[in-house]
Amino acid sequence: MSLFDDVRDALLFREDSTVEGKLLTPIEQIIETELGHFSKSVSITNVDQIPDTPKIPIQNPRTWLKIPNVICCFVDMEGSTKLSAGLHDKTTAKAYRLFTETGIRIFHEFGAEYIDIKGDGVFALFNQDQPYSALAATISFKTFVYEHFTPKVEALTEQHIGGHFGIDQKTVLVRRFGLKTYQNRTDRQNEVWAGKPINMAAKLASLSTDNKLWVSDRFFGNLRDEKATHSCGCPSGNKVELWTEENMSDDSRFDFDTAYSLDSNWCEKHGRSFCSSLVELDS
Ligand SMILES: [Zn+2]
Repeated sequence: MSLFDDVRDALLFREDSTVEGKLLTPIEQIIETELGHFSKSVSITNVDQIPDTPKIPIQNPRTWLKIPNVICCFVDMEGSTKLSAGLHDKTTAKAYRLFTETGIRIFHEFGAEYIDIKGDGVFALFNQDQPYSALAATISFKTFVYEHFTPKVEALTEQHIGGHFGIDQKTVLVRRFGLKTYQNRTDRQNEVWAGKPINMAAKLASLSTDNKLWVSDRFFGNLRDEKATHSCGCPSGNKVELWTEENMSDDSRFDFDTAYSLDSNWCEKHGRSFCSSLVELDS
């Protein structure tokens, strides 16, 4: 059926008082309003930095902000489907808290500009001048998952729940959607980050197994300092290349051809000083 048939039928139906229409009247009004916005042009303002959340547009329906080179770190649980809210409700509840709350607080501590929860994971956004902080935060969380989260949950459930870790970087558009307030509540709105890095970081994370961090080549390009690319030398004294090149060219889900994976966590002997000096590289 062509669009013209649809229009003709719609006109005919309107003349036929026995036809109700498919949707409730308020639903039709919502759709009509949104189709009105869709048919008009959008106003995009370029900004350099991730804005404070209250400054992200919500009222003007066609206003967006555009931010270049936003870094997105994405972490979530590997194997969370083995946790059951029905069978092991208390352990599941504790595991979710331990993973998600720790993730949010670690990214906050490292100065993430925006943090949100997505499914059973957390994503954190950093500005383009914070690549080493983004990396240090993600390795810190990865170290926590390996050292604490996985063994603690395994002791209670006999299930191996690991972590997925991914980082990407690219331009994003942001605005808020939803109801600005509803009965004095603001929980019917949220920020929407449109663009590659959030999706790509989540997809990279989904590839990561065995506690590895996967990053795109465009994020990896920031890491010029040896502290981010080579080990501290423990235990043999040899400083070795930490990252493994991964060929992505056969995977159509990604818009880049090369990724890099990192196995190691912070070293017990040097982790603290390595982490601090990585973060200092951003300032
Ligand atoms: Zn060391």
